[in-house]
Amino acid sequence: MVFRLSASYAVITIVVLSLFGAFLFWSLKQSLEINARNTLADKISVMREILRERPNDQEALEEEVQWESTARRQSVYYSRLLRDNGALVIQSPGAQDLIPELSRCPSPAAESRSIGETEEVHSGPGRTLLIGSAWITSGAENPVLSAPQRFIYTVALDTTSEQNFLHDYRDKLLMVLIGGSVVSAVAGTYVARQGIRPIKDISAAAHRITASDLAERVGSMAWPRELAGLAAEFDAMLQRLEDSFQRLSQFSADIAHELRTPINNLMGEAEVALNRERTSKEYANVIASSLEEYHRLAELIDSLLFLARAENADLSLQKSWFRVADELAQLLSFHELQATESEVTLSFSGDARLFADSTLFRRAISNVVSNALKHTPRDGNVIVEVAAAHDAVKILIKDDGVGIAPEHLPRLFDRFYRVDASRAAATAGTGLGLAIVKSIVDLHGGSVTIESELGKGTSVTLVFPVPPAVKEEMERQSIPGVAISE
Ligand code: ATP
Ligand code: MG
Repeated sequence: MVFRLSASYAVITIVVLSLFGAFLFWSLKQSLEINARNTLADKISVMREILRERPNDQEALEEEVQWESTARRQSVYYSRLLRDNGALVIQSPGAQDLIPELSRCPSPAAESRSIGETEEVHSGPGRTLLIGSAWITSGAENPVLSAPQRFIYTVALDTTSEQNFLHDYRDKLLMVLIGGSVVSAVAGTYVARQGIRPIKDISAAAHRITASDLAERVGSMAWPRELAGLAAEFDAMLQRLEDSFQRLSQFSADIAHELRTPINNLMGEAEVALNRERTSKEYANVIASSLEEYHRLAELIDSLLFLARAENADLSLQKSWFRVADELAQLLSFHELQATESEVTLSFSGDARLFADSTLFRRAISNVVSNALKHTPRDGNVIVEVAAAHDAVKILIKDDGVGIAPEHLPRLFDRFYRVDASRAAATAGTGLGLAIVKSIVDLHGGSVTIESELGKGTSVTLVFPVPPAVKEEMERQSIPGVAISE
């Protein structure tokens, strides 16, 4: 990661510097060339002026060609004036060696143009000349020469210093490029290291955290803004882990506790029975009461197994269509005996069609109804109401029993949670009933809520959603009660 970041950083710098340098170099070269061409044009224009206005002024000619040109320190130039037949009129000292013969010079610019083609010539070591030439027609009113004459004027501007300047500039640009690349690679590595350090800190913190030490948090450290969100998420995840880990530990402790009591009972009974010789009737009594305890144990284990499988989503739902009223009628007939024994009226009303796992559905309703029956005294009522909303089926189980104090309500769906331990001993619940109801409803994507008032009664609402796709199917299937496997 550090390498990749710093490498891309360096590559970007190199590309940007190269493009920038190339552009600067090109534009400088361009303007120097334009400058040199302008100087050449200037010289040509001076010569035209002289030949047109004062063609007999030999002095002016000499001054321009022989003195002016070589006396300069800046923009030294050499020039040569030829007649159109190639005969030499005048040339600067040294021009003979420096200006190539006419056939090798760029073709002269027409009279109308200030300058035509130019050519760069390297003559001698490290000497560069820019050569251009032009046609010049002398003035018509010439007292010396009877008719206007045509000349070819060639000027060679010494651009050696410009060339050197350009080379120097190019070398400096290359140095900047190389230096810049090295600096950016080093700086990039440093910056990338700095940038990545907080991530390393988070991973070090993650490394420190073990199952026994989930209390560690990273949010309090000073994070850069971009990572503060990650740190907060990380802490939230730790909080969730810690919570579920605590619940799991509590659950294991509860399981151990719940299993210990019946096993102690069984052990006690067996020990007492073995104290002395017993009659076969007494042995049969011991076995019968043990069997009861075994049933309770088996039930407890079954419930725990169910919860574990539901939690791991290991449970595949066998969904089918059914009429809620059919299931309720069947289910309540099981509870009828319990209801008549405690002289509680048990009834149901309403109907709906539902697409759910009917076995689990019965198990959930049965758990709630049996709670209601258990906690409703003589002459009470337990009513089950079914209502079909547009995207869900609601089942309300209402009793006018003892009710539940508000402080217990939030924890009722916790595993092994019982409102009153002493009362629980009398009614012998495991405290898993509502936890199972919740996991069944969750598996169906629904919800369960409980409302209660002490001394007035309790009502539990189960909501089973009807997904839109299933609802469509439901409307298409006009025949009620037809089972469609999912
Ligand atoms: P199990 O259902 O496993 O035999 P349980 O009935 O004790 O055991 P839950 O069904 O989870 O456990 O119920 C939790 C507690 O909620 C119960 O101990 C009971 O005190 C209280 N409770 C549940 N339903 C009612 C009700 N309708 N009226 C009064 N209290 C209730
Ligand atoms: Mg119960």
